[in-house]
Amino acid sequence: QTTLAPPVSAAYPDWKAGDPVPYAALCATFSRIELTTKRLQILAMCSAFLQQVLRLTPADLLPTVLLMTGKLAADYSGIELGIGESLIMKAIGETTGRSAKVIKDDQQKIGDLGLVAAKSRGNQPTMFKPKPLTVRGVHEGLMKIAIVEGQGAQGRKVDGIKKLLSAADVNLAKGQQVDINKDKGGPSESKFIIRALEGKMRLGLADKTLQVALAQAMVCHDVAKDGKKVPSETELKKGEEVFKTVYSELPAYEVIVPALLKGGIWKLREECRLQPGVPLKPMLAKPTKSIGEVLDRFEGKDFTCEYKYDGERAQIHFVSHDSKQDFATTVAPKEGKSEAGISNIFSRNSEDLSKKYPDILAKLPTWVKEGTKSFVLDCETVAWDVEKKSVLPFQQLMTRKRKDVKAEDVKVKVCVFAFDLLYLNGEAIVAKPFRERRELLHSAFEPVEGEFAFAQHGDGKEIEEIQVLLEESIKASCEGLMVKMLDGVESHYEPSRRSQNWLKVKKDYLAGAGDSLDLVVLGAYYGKGKRTSVFGAFQLACFNERSQKYETVCNIGTGFSEVLLEELHETLSPHVIDKPKPFYDHSSGKNDQPDVWFEAKFVWEVKTADLTLSPRYRAANEEFGSDGTHKGVSLRFPRFIRVREDKKADDATTSVQVAEMYRAQAQQGKEKKGPAADDDF
Ligand code: ATP
Repeated sequence: QTTLAPPVSAAYPDWKAGDPVPYAALCATFSRIELTTKRLQILAMCSAFLQQVLRLTPADLLPTVLLMTGKLAADYSGIELGIGESLIMKAIGETTGRSAKVIKDDQQKIGDLGLVAAKSRGNQPTMFKPKPLTVRGVHEGLMKIAIVEGQGAQGRKVDGIKKLLSAADVNLAKGQQVDINKDKGGPSESKFIIRALEGKMRLGLADKTLQVALAQAMVCHDVAKDGKKVPSETELKKGEEVFKTVYSELPAYEVIVPALLKGGIWKLREECRLQPGVPLKPMLAKPTKSIGEVLDRFEGKDFTCEYKYDGERAQIHFVSHDSKQDFATTVAPKEGKSEAGISNIFSRNSEDLSKKYPDILAKLPTWVKEGTKSFVLDCETVAWDVEKKSVLPFQQLMTRKRKDVKAEDVKVKVCVFAFDLLYLNGEAIVAKPFRERRELLHSAFEPVEGEFAFAQHGDGKEIEEIQVLLEESIKASCEGLMVKMLDGVESHYEPSRRSQNWLKVKKDYLAGAGDSLDLVVLGAYYGKGKRTSVFGAFQLACFNERSQKYETVCNIGTGFSEVLLEELHETLSPHVIDKPKPFYDHSSGKNDQPDVWFEAKFVWEVKTADLTLSPRYRAANEEFGSDGTHKGVSLRFPRFIRVREDKKADDATTSVQVAEMYRAQAQQGKEKKGPAADDDF
């Protein structure tokens, strides 16, 4: 499988060993990837290209891999692109000497800024021919654009974009244009630069596929060094396993790629392990509809029920000064430095929360028992009522500032509820049974009232006992229960997985309302009546991980107070765009168009009465949209719950989850067909 794609260098005779990787070569690979949907072909193309890089220019492997992911650095670095449309259009105009109006008209006609840039390329005035772009150069250029801040930042961003664009596609003959109607615009460098700037590569290259491709390329490379021509299937599989385990514990190519280059794939596990300072992706839970379903799942196994606290997921990392270990220094913030050691706190998205919770980092050393030198804790931060000594609703937590909080000024106090321990005293313990991890957790920390506590739990197995615990959890202002496997391999911590070894039981499910969804806001309608000065309703979408598109799932106008609508109007207005992006999968029906479209940036939690097949909305259309009458799945009577500040657009509920929810409901005999009563405004 790995040698399916022909060698790339044939097309780039100038790319010799030791030369920088030509960006054109990477774009040629991108172009071939985007022209197929077959996963194995995509895998083979990626793997072949990476093998080429390893053979000719291994020093460029890291920027190559990063550009393939569409990200400039690991999530925890906080460096990301997602440049607004207006800046990009300005830069395209200025590079090609075309007026803003012409670019805007093109954008209206073509709809894809990448193609607008590709098309404009031929018009570029060329006094002298710039040097062709290299992968390293493009990565560095994009990085500069992403991190520039302060006065004049916008202007410098535009300059940075112009610099890249003016050196793009220089190999085209003078006057020659990219044919934007053929092969999705082909391997145009301008097109892929714009996509990188937009923060959406849209290649159909899933992160997991890239991981396998890199593992395979490394195995091929390593066996070739040993004088073997091709690796065996077993070697390939083993390499993939090693890589997946390492990546799940240490999702940072910046750490993994240098280790691969240094010691090869077979030494990777020794070199790279969970490391304080590099957040891992948290384990997630599956929803359940009833306690009966929980009992069926865990039948014959020992499990535990913990309170499900309603706050913000937090992963706390710590290394004491007197331990011999390193903290990944790239992310040690000043808030996390104390006499005791270095610490940091990360969100479920691996964002650095140190500036939001300096109070937690300041107190952390007081919860640690003697002998606890380094750890990674999985926990929930919850707003705390100091007088009543009890948990406060989630909304209180949301009133805390997100940045530049001073520990002494904090008004909303938080208590940390710890429910898992992933690393202790120099050792990753994710592959120990949960029962053991919990014992270690309890032995390494000391609860402090109102500051640090262990998640409340009960290990009873009878339905009545669970029912009682559930009711108690609700009385204690929790959302319900998290039910977890206690022993054996199934109870190991599974980073980044939505696992059936963790089940969530929320009180709403029991009322038949089902799980809530986290959806991306794509568009809005101007209000009517009292709401004329603000948006009165919105179009929401879920995320298709495979196609990287946002698929519309409902319009929503319920659950908003007047004040909230004003706030949302203010937040959303700066993100209005002229046209839906090419990666918005929406109905083209005349009556289905929102009045305005937005950049896909905001995620809202929404509840629904149920799901229905819809002639208008596109969610899960790969599965449910092919019978002619229905375009996809939609929500009936959706209701706004809250803004999910801790989720980015790509963390929204996925099309696969929507499909699962629809199927689960259909199985229960509640399937609703016919015209969708899915708009309630
Ligand atoms: P997702 O499942 O996509 O994470 P979500 O962020 O809305 O969705 P829920 O599905 O409501 O979260 O439930 C999982 C979340 O519950 C965890 O991410 C964590 O933040 C929180 N939580 C609270 N108490 C616990 C606990 N005892 N064990 C594990 N998670 C808990």
